Amino acid sequence: MTVPAPAPTRAEDYRGPYGLSEDQDLFRRTVHEFVAREIVPTAHEYDESETFPRENVRKMAELGLLGLVVPEEYGGAGASTLDYVLAMEEVSWGCASHAVVMSVNNSLVCEPIHRFGTDEQRREHLPRLAAGEYIGSYCLSEPTSGSDASNMATTARREGVDWVLNGTKSWISNGGEAGLYLVYAVSNTGVPKARGITAFLVHADNPGLRTGAKERKLGIRASATTQVFLEDCRVPSSAVLGRVDEGFKIAMSTLDGGRIGIASQALGIAQRALDETIRYSKERVAFGHPIAEFQGLQWRMADMATRIEAARLLIYRAARMKDAGQPYAKEASMAKLFASETANFCAHAAVQTFGGYGYVRDYPVEKLFRDAKITEIYEGTSEIQRLVISRHILREVARSK
Ligand SMILES: Cc1cc2nc3c(=O)[nH]c(=O)nc-3n(C[C@H](O)[C@H](O)[C@H](O)COP(=O)(O)OP(=O)(O)OC[C@H]3O[C@@H](n4cnc5c(N)ncnc54)[C@H](O)[C@@H]3O)c2cc1C
Repeated sequence: MTVPAPAPTRAEDYRGPYGLSEDQDLFRRTVHEFVAREIVPTAHEYDESETFPRENVRKMAELGLLGLVVPEEYGGAGASTLDYVLAMEEVSWGCASHAVVMSVNNSLVCEPIHRFGTDEQRREHLPRLAAGEYIGSYCLSEPTSGSDASNMATTARREGVDWVLNGTKSWISNGGEAGLYLVYAVSNTGVPKARGITAFLVHADNPGLRTGAKERKLGIRASATTQVFLEDCRVPSSAVLGRVDEGFKIAMSTLDGGRIGIASQALGIAQRALDETIRYSKERVAFGHPIAEFQGLQWRMADMATRIEAARLLIYRAARMKDAGQPYAKEASMAKLFASETANFCAHAAVQTFGGYGYVRDYPVEKLFRDAKITEIYEGTSEIQRLVISRHILREVARSK
């Protein structure tokens, strides 16, 4: 079963506090019901055993969630960025590990293939990525370069009509599970690194590509994170995505879009933390009263709810700007920065509200607390988001003078 993407919104359809159409609201609710039915009951076990949730990922693909942003002509749902963030929030509400798979596949792999790929590359990969026949992974970070991504050591050397890749990629989400690796490598050492990097689409079974052991993580423990080793990995020139030496632009512009997705992952975690907090504080009695009656806790819940609404509005704004074809890098960074800090604030508050029960694995908020942290780290740490935002605003001020 595939959920059809909502029809493009018309002005007269707009309703509710977020200006969503009826179709979008129905779409959001359909994804929520799927998540409550299929993901929530199994998320704890996958997390506990640190097992990649293959069966649930298959069901997510069936519903169309792995190819939401892929145009219909390539087998996807043809959804807007706004539709995508609605779904990302719901899946993350159920389990942030499942959301990683969806976000990497949609934002970090399908999007750049669609934007920068040849028609042949699109036809080869997009239908399969959308159907979940295989999933993708995005290989930028390395042991000695994360935030400073262009300072990578992986090389791509031309040999006849082929390219030969050598190097190590770190922290690769979907590592070991993916069928396709989008690998960035230095192809030209005669220019500053950011102008000499090329992107390559490498099949998992390509000789010379090998993945390492699964990292043992604080949170999103069901997701697969591994190193990727490229050892004389020979690929044909048809594996180049976009233009030779222009891969870093692909990497950076892809992350702008990805950040809106991670912001909505954070939003889902924050919303779940608030929902659990409200439910528990009405049930738990102390000093003869449900703890929800204590003003100190009410104020904390009000702070959680207000930050969540602000995060949601920032995310929807960034998504709408992307959909409208406007520059949105600053807005995406603001959304990610604020939403990820909101997720951590809310998960922390939820654990505090649960008291001792918040500290043990039998209750859901302990997992939220662990899962929230990654949203402040990947696809650009909070420090890097502040750097991006400040660069933009300083430039804007300079221009307005
Ligand atoms: C679970 C997980 C999944 C991931 N998935 C992927 C993936 O799929 N693909 C991929 O390519 N990468 C992935 N990453 C890598 C992730 O994007 C990097 O960890 C992140 O960008 C930070 O890089 P780093 O770890 O090298 O930290 P560093 O860059 O070494 O940063 C260390 C600290 O210094 C700060 N810092 C660095 N530069 C500055 C500066 N100029 N100003 C102020 N502070 C600064 C950082 O904010 C951070 O606090 C993943 C990481 C994790 C943990």
